[in-house]
Amino acid sequence: MQTGFRQQSLWPVKISSVEEISPGAFLLSFPRNFSFSAGQVLKIALGEKEVPRMYSICSGENDPEITILFNVKPEGSLTPQLSHCKPGDTLFISLPLGSFTGDDQPAWLIATGTGLAPFYSMLRSGLVNGKQLIHGVRYLNQFYFEYELTRMLGQRYIKCCSAEHHDKVFAGRVTDYLRQLVELPSGIKYYLCGNGLMVVEVRDLLIERGVPFNNIISEIYF
Ligand SMILES: Cc1cc2nc3c(=O)[nH]c(=O)nc-3n(C[C@H](O)[C@H](O)[C@H](O)COP(=O)(O)OP(=O)(O)OC[C@H]3O[C@@H](n4cnc5c(N)ncnc54)[C@H](O)[C@@H]3O)c2cc1C
Repeated sequence: MQTGFRQQSLWPVKISSVEEISPGAFLLSFPRNFSFSAGQVLKIALGEKEVPRMYSICSGENDPEITILFNVKPEGSLTPQLSHCKPGDTLFISLPLGSFTGDDQPAWLIATGTGLAPFYSMLRSGLVNGKQLIHGVRYLNQFYFEYELTRMLGQRYIKCCSAEHHDKVFAGRVTDYLRQLVELPSGIKYYLCGNGLMVVEVRDLLIERGVPFNNIISEIYF
């Protein structure tokens, strides 16, 4: 870590790439010069004095670059500008924050949209053992990293799509997928990440099905 990092709330880094991986969804990367625990977030702004937004780190703990995965909110104050950044542009970041971190115990990881980011980071960091990933999206082209996730998890990678059909994809939302399961494993952790409506709905469903409240860990994006 560079000298002085801890004295500043936001620190400049040079963007190395910005790539649109699906319509309106971007991966932004910059060199990593600090360590973090998979699942943590960064505050990010385009100016040192601007109000930052939070983003989950999407890359693995040992990857040479930090990557974030974000959706452009057309009316948003940061994401439209972020999507137009070029290599060499400056970004201001915080130290990694948060305790939504994974471990090597069995768990179900349940995400919608870009809520996949912390789970991808955990899996890329080697926390694959006993993990089942359930990812819900609206359109089939929003299954970010699907080839790598299929390779890592095989049958333990469940894709749910609410607006388009495919024979290898569950038709419906993550809540529909969970509801039709006869049994949910007990004694494991359930990590939920994405929009607040999904997190609350899944949390309530898990509690109804007997999962102890303390086994449910969530991160709400908006
Ligand atoms: C802990 C945490 C981690 C987060 N990690 C990520 C991440 O990895 N990737 C990511 O894309 N976002 C993430 N977010 C959301 C992110 O911080 C911003 O809110 C989002 O990128 C919009 O920023 P903006 O400045 O463009 O829009 P704003 O000006 O902040 O908001 C515009 C409007 O869009 C709504 N909104 C905000 N985010 C979304 C969204 N994703 N989808 C639909 N509506 C939304 C807001 O409620 C608001 O009404 C995270 C949020 C939190 C709290």
